Amino acid sequence: MEICDLHCVVIGAGIGGLAAGALLARRGVQVVVLEAQHYPGGCAATFSSGDYRFDAGATVGCGFHSGGPLDRLGRELGIDWPVRSEPLAWQYRHRDLRLDLFSSRGNIIARFPRSKPFWYEQARLARTLWRLSADALPWPVSGARDVVALAGRALGALPDSARLLPFARRTAQEWLASHGLDADAEFVRFIDAQLLISAQTTSREANALNTAIALDLPVAGTWSVEGGIGTVARRLADSIERDGGAVLYGKKVTRLDTINREALGVETADGDALAADAIIANLTPDSLALLDDFRPAGEAGVESASGWSAFMLYLGLDATLFERAGADHLQIVASAGELGECRSLFVSASPAGDAGRAPEGQRAVTVSTHTRPERWFEALRQGRAAYEALKREYADRALALLCEQLPEARGAIRSLTAATPHSWERWTGRRHGLVGGYPQTSLFGVRGPATKYRNLFVAGDSIFPGQSLPGVVTGARRTAELLLRRCSKK
Ligand SMILES: Cc1cc2nc3c(=O)[nH]c(=O)nc-3n(C[C@H](O)[C@H](O)[C@H](O)COP(=O)(O)OP(=O)(O)OC[C@H]3O[C@@H](n4cnc5c(N)ncnc54)[C@H](O)[C@@H]3O)c2cc1C
Repeated sequence: MEICDLHCVVIGAGIGGLAAGALLARRGVQVVVLEAQHYPGGCAATFSSGDYRFDAGATVGCGFHSGGPLDRLGRELGIDWPVRSEPLAWQYRHRDLRLDLFSSRGNIIARFPRSKPFWYEQARLARTLWRLSADALPWPVSGARDVVALAGRALGALPDSARLLPFARRTAQEWLASHGLDADAEFVRFIDAQLLISAQTTSREANALNTAIALDLPVAGTWSVEGGIGTVARRLADSIERDGGAVLYGKKVTRLDTINREALGVETADGDALAADAIIANLTPDSLALLDDFRPAGEAGVESASGWSAFMLYLGLDATLFERAGADHLQIVASAGELGECRSLFVSASPAGDAGRAPEGQRAVTVSTHTRPERWFEALRQGRAAYEALKREYADRALALLCEQLPEARGAIRSLTAATPHSWERWTGRRHGLVGGYPQTSLFGVRGPATKYRNLFVAGDSIFPGQSLPGVVTGARRTAELLLRRCSKK
């Protein structure tokens, strides 16, 4: 089929679905995106509440550096991202330790001098990995063509790519141990906190190569997005429409029509049916399985509730709090105990100059902590009172940790709303509110965009390379390529 005759339906206007849809629309594919909510962005949306515009989940803009996934996407689609580089990525606080995460490692090495060779090695590994993955790494391989492409890239990056091999099956903990750093509790806690937010697991289980990339985020640079992170999704939706496609809101897909190994189209909750030559599901595998009547028995629910969701506080806070803190993004870690569940917080304030986000003299602040969904859904089963009590308990604990580092915070609150895994399930359609992507414990066994249906593909943070805006944009590029390869004559 010629590209211009190809009709593609995208289920979900998260960054993954929008990026894949926009790339295809630019190539001439007729794209229709169906989004259940009345706004785009999913985990990376910005929403209004009273006088504030809060980022729902993602707050830190990454991947906009020259040649980075968002930069390349913008150039290709003619989008001039309204972003501003932030010299300080975020500030880490644990007891009386404060570390500003800049693109240089100088202050971290000054505080942990024995870690210098580790950072040197991390930088070298990350450079090679960025180089190999520029232009969407064909991983996991889908056919002989990918094997050849992957081998070509590895050979092109020799001898550096050969140096990756010993790390491919190592954990971050083993890597730290090789530098004698595994017994430095303060350093390990710092690394664990970084890994939890960017690899969804800690050094005990995180893969060493994933770790090298995860620790590189502040080095690659971070950006604030004018109007909030949701502007990225809105610009992508505009791009699809400019290229002749459509993004339809309030359109929840409830069923996938398939026959044998072919997807035929989708049905929506409001009774519409759309036929398609190709379909992209911007969904977790668990949510996708729920739409698919032809799944083999027992396939739905494969992920069950394992994985991370998030507990959130959306706060209107006095701006002076962040001026005194010297940072708009703070990572606050409790003195002891496993991370997550209100023992680690990521706190992001809307930029001082972004006047549309909060009333004068205030900031719209998003506070998140990793939480396992089981407890929340168990509380819901017990009834509304149990669920509300758990919500209050988490809000109190999150505020207590925030006030440990910013004691004036409690008096600076002008507005407070909390959200839970149940909220995330409603907002994103992700079963159990699993918004964490997949834990990056291994490079093997990760999912790619292909499914058991020839013309049904997945985009989003369930596929390699996983969570984050640059992650899902990289994955979406591969989804679009595979779809064109299988479904069109170029
Ligand atoms: C608390 C939190 C903080 C984060 N912080 C950062 C950060 O600072 N920086 C960063 O880069 N990344 C961050 N991330 C990760 C990043 O936000 C996600 O990896 C990314 O946005 C996921 O995009 P996605 O396309 O996979 O899916 P989603 O964002 O989940 O989008 C899926 C979309 O599909 C729609 N949908 C679902 N089911 C249906 C259906 N049946 N029919 C129609 N539509 C449907 C949903 O409504 C949603 O809009 C964070 C995530 C969270 C949760």
